[in-house]
Amino acid sequence: MSAGAAPTRLLADRRTLLKGAGAGLATLIAPGVTLYAFGADDAGARPAGEPASAKVRWGMLIDSSKCAPGCDRCVAACRDENGWQSTGHVESDPQWIRIVTVRDPKTGAQSAAPVMCQHCANPACVDVCPTGASFKRADGLVLVDRHICIGCRYCMMACPYKARSFVHEAIEDQKTNAPRGKGTVEGCTLCVDRIDAGRKPACVEACASEGGGAMTFGDLNDPSSDIAKALASLSTTQIRSDLGLDPGVRYRNL
Ligand code: SF4
Ligand code: SF4
Repeated sequence: MSAGAAPTRLLADRRTLLKGAGAGLATLIAPGVTLYAFGADDAGARPAGEPASAKVRWGMLIDSSKCAPGCDRCVAACRDENGWQSTGHVESDPQWIRIVTVRDPKTGAQSAAPVMCQHCANPACVDVCPTGASFKRADGLVLVDRHICIGCRYCMMACPYKARSFVHEAIEDQKTNAPRGKGTVEGCTLCVDRIDAGRKPACVEACASEGGGAMTFGDLNDPSSDIAKALASLSTTQIRSDLGLDPGVRYRNL
């Protein structure tokens, strides 16, 4: 699809997206603005309408040694949380999160770990986006404003982690927390709506309760957080750190 052919069709698609999204969904509709009603138990949630803080940088540490062979609980949780399904074709599958197997050519040893949007500090997707639809929030989350996205897919080409995918078909029965739209690009949001409510991403919770407990989520900027302490004391890595994008997702034993 050329960018020039997109506007008429996408306008209709965006209307569908808005209709499907329902009334209480400003989390993903207005960048950096949350219209959540917070409960007393939502520790760490920022008040409704208050912008994300640059004091925080959300990130994740994944210890692949805790990922059992064949385990995909994180993928299943993401699917359930955000309402996407596999198409059955690798080339058109949504790329919110996937299990990637890595083999050491010297030893033959294999390890597997989930890969999703790395929420880069210097995101290539944002650099190439012609409309501003790809944007980085003050707290480090890299998101797509699907009402501005024209579906040109430059971000998909620019992302070295293959962390974004294009929605080819109209989406029925959307999850109200994760509006999706035909003709737009999407990727992992680290469950931005949950974060804004003081909760952890769905994959992290599922991995802790049903998987190997491989995922640590938290504020990279807070020296007292579990993730910052782990990064300070353990040997960890960023995938393709040589590219200089400074991913917020870090790995161990990969
Ligand atoms: Fe952008 Fe790709 Fe980095 Fe995510 S992983 S922030 S889509 S460049
Ligand atoms: Fe921006 Fe990607 Fe949408 Fe193009 S497809 S407008 S680069 S978010």
